[in-house]
Amino acid sequence: MALLPTMHPKKIFPSGKMPNLRYELAKLRMDYFLSEFSERNWANKKKPPPRYVLWDCTRRCNLSCIHCGATKETYSSELKTEQIKDILDDLSVLKVDMFAVTGGEPLLRRDLLEVMSYAYHQGLKTGIATNGLLIDHSMAERIKDANIYSVQISLDGLEQTHNRIRNNCQSFTKAVNAVRLLTKFRIPLLSVATTVTTRNISEIGELRHLLLQLGVKLWRLTVVMPIGRAQAADVSLDSNQLISLFRFIKENDRKGIRIYLGENLTFLGDWEKKIRGGPMICPIGFLACCIGVDGNVRGCPEQPDTVDTREGSLLENSFTEIWQNGFKRYRNREILVADPYCAECKSKFDCYGGCWVMRGGEQHCIYRLLS
Ligand code: SF4
Ligand code: SF4
Repeated sequence: MALLPTMHPKKIFPSGKMPNLRYELAKLRMDYFLSEFSERNWANKKKPPPRYVLWDCTRRCNLSCIHCGATKETYSSELKTEQIKDILDDLSVLKVDMFAVTGGEPLLRRDLLEVMSYAYHQGLKTGIATNGLLIDHSMAERIKDANIYSVQISLDGLEQTHNRIRNNCQSFTKAVNAVRLLTKFRIPLLSVATTVTTRNISEIGELRHLLLQLGVKLWRLTVVMPIGRAQAADVSLDSNQLISLFRFIKENDRKGIRIYLGENLTFLGDWEKKIRGGPMICPIGFLACCIGVDGNVRGCPEQPDTVDTREGSLLENSFTEIWQNGFKRYRNREILVADPYCAECKSKFDCYGGCWVMRGGEQHCIYRLLS
């Protein structure tokens, strides 16, 4: 005899479907975290530290990819080794979790591994996003010796496609070799990143097989951003292609390889809880920010470094001061009022306005794009 009356699921969950509990819990945690930054809490509270600080360490690159977001800013100088080490001291006191570098090609900075090793000894986890071109056996060993926690290698298709996209006939072989070497050296978190475009969407199934053969456990899929050379390339996915990408993830995630979408695809409407374990909102000003090439702090490496996007300069103020006092437009979510669509949107507290960079090309509202 049942001790409790059996309740029909429709009475407990009006939609009749079990909620995605993992997702709902993550959303609750995220909402609580965001409230720590709200205006109401600002006056008296110290803001929690960012979890990730990204360092856009150089704009120099040894490739010229068709979808690259690198804009044409030129810098008379990059932060010097001692300057970035001073900044790392501040990040360490703040208890930032992760310090990750991007570019350009970060390994073109001769002092990169010295800086990463310093960050590690200051108690920060470190990460690097690279095209893999410079990773031979000796470089892989040096990356291991610098205690780099996470390495992300870009791979945008099978050999011919990747080489065409990257404008270099050696780039595929070298990227695959880099994955093999870093696997051999047991980098704790090795992942592959693929920018899915009209040029490579037809081969992501075969690419998955290749990654399985290489022993890759984590695969980040993202879409092209409307910035830099990508603006002219016209390789963005249309809504049908986006949906087939979501289907691909739904069918293949966690089958030998964890597949996840990069955060420039924020709220996905009906697809959100089918292919994500938690909400993906733009982390600028809450979880993350970016140190630019010459020490200006902005939200994200994909944003152009302009007067409008800068929150302060590390040549004038400490990182702690900039983090405590900047980023108001993101923390106030001004966009949810300023954008008439967002203001009326029933999902605005799931989405929070989408990716700021995609917004520049009117591609931020995946929900509207799909419906
Ligand atoms: S209208 Fe705005 S808040 Fe709503 S889903 Fe689109 S981008 Fe997000
Ligand atoms: S602006 Fe877009 S790419 Fe940058 S952190 Fe926000 S969601 Fe990510």
